[in-house]
Amino acid sequence: MHIAVVGTGIVGACSAAWLQRDGHQITFVDPLEPGQACSFGNAGSLSPSACLPVGMPNMWRKVPSWLLDPLGPLTIRTSYLPRVLPWLVRMLRHSTPKEVTRIAGSLVTLLRPIFECYEPLLEHAQAQSLVQRSGCLYVYSSREAAAQWKWGMDLRRSLGVNLIDVDREELETLEPDLKGRFRFGILAPDNGSTLDPSQLVQALCRQSLRDGARHDRRTVTGFERQGRRVTALRMDRGEPLAVDGVVIAAGAWSGTLAAQLGDRLPLESQRGYHVTVRSSNLQLRHTVMASENNLMVNPMAMGLRLAGTVEFAGLAPPPNYARAQALLRQGRQLFPHLDTADVTQWMGHRPCMPDSLPVIDHSRNADNAWLAFGHGHMGMCMGATTGREIAHLIAGRATQVDLAPFRAARFH
Ligand SMILES: Cc1cc2nc3c(=O)[nH]c(=O)nc-3n(C[C@H](O)[C@H](O)[C@H](O)COP(=O)(O)OP(=O)(O)OC[C@H]3O[C@@H](n4cnc5c(N)ncnc54)[C@H](O)[C@@H]3O)c2cc1C
Repeated sequence: MHIAVVGTGIVGACSAAWLQRDGHQITFVDPLEPGQACSFGNAGSLSPSACLPVGMPNMWRKVPSWLLDPLGPLTIRTSYLPRVLPWLVRMLRHSTPKEVTRIAGSLVTLLRPIFECYEPLLEHAQAQSLVQRSGCLYVYSSREAAAQWKWGMDLRRSLGVNLIDVDREELETLEPDLKGRFRFGILAPDNGSTLDPSQLVQALCRQSLRDGARHDRRTVTGFERQGRRVTALRMDRGEPLAVDGVVIAAGAWSGTLAAQLGDRLPLESQRGYHVTVRSSNLQLRHTVMASENNLMVNPMAMGLRLAGTVEFAGLAPPPNYARAQALLRQGRQLFPHLDTADVTQWMGHRPCMPDSLPVIDHSRNADNAWLAFGHGHMGMCMGATTGREIAHLIAGRATQVDLAPFRAARFH
């Protein structure tokens, strides 16, 4: 089939690569070059351990104090509050211990095969060097402080995630740059990361183009249909693009497209920020998650990236880079000797569903349209598995992951 993949982020790139392995002809549709939207500046962690949803049972108690600090880990622009409130209530409903246990059990099925699903794509694109398996260290000021996160860590362990407690001495041997700051850690040795998420997406898309894909640099505005089939994509300019099928992998912008096909889904942007310290004088060997600071730190090809924070403000308003600067201040507190002379800053739209589960499904009203979005805080982790499963769906094969928890119908 000639399949249009709308979106050249990590999800579109992986979906196209897996579809080409089935012999489909691919046209990417995206006005941007590959890997320029949310897949550009994320923290790049590829974590089988990242199976907890955003809404955790105890989190809500901290929310009021977070909201009082406009540069804190969570902020909601006042003008956006009425719009996002129903979505937040939905998220709250998915934050009970029972729901979190169910959601984590579903997320882990997409996360366990991360590397197995990336491997053939990376090998084919000769991009293996962009992914490393160096592990992640969750670090805490003390063992007592870590107790706050114990319930979630135990849940991860119960789902088979390999986590090793690390005392102060061992922690400082593993990461000498953390010396004196943290007294307890938990090592996730099976985690990995990418040295550059945007380069990873670009490498995969370049390979797809070498394998015969095209890139149509326009914006999809709608669909032409005959009965239950999409026959063409309407574009912001020029002629419609005739297709045999379409995968909507347009990240945080997928909602309006899916709605045009009859799938009205509660997709919301959780805006996140990074600062990348280009001339990093640290020698970190692991991804470091400082939970008390809500900060992820990852050594990357272009420098040391500090990423995090959640901002609800919608897709349109410009970034508030004071939030990125707040991340930098956190970084300086964690690493007082960090040389921050040369930094870049960035904001991206995480495509989020209220239950933290992506949508991986066919459209309910169009037999040749498929939905692949809503990967939230974990699109890099789940991109390759999503691509493989979308290819199974399109081929009519049995999926390797039970896709029931990821159906769009859960919101209908
Ligand atoms: C600060 C931060 C840190 C993060 N850290 C991590 C991490 O460590 N690990 C992890 O796994 N995830 C992380 N994430 C999340 C991850 O970045 C996202 O889940 C992922 O990039 C989403 O990929 P995507 O392909 O769905 O969307 P995107 O990368 O946003 O791509 C969507 C594409 O669709 C295109 N598009 C939109 N509308 C249209 C249209 N109408 N027509 C044509 N094209 C269209 C856009 O131009 C864009 O190129 C982080 C995110 C942030 C913000």
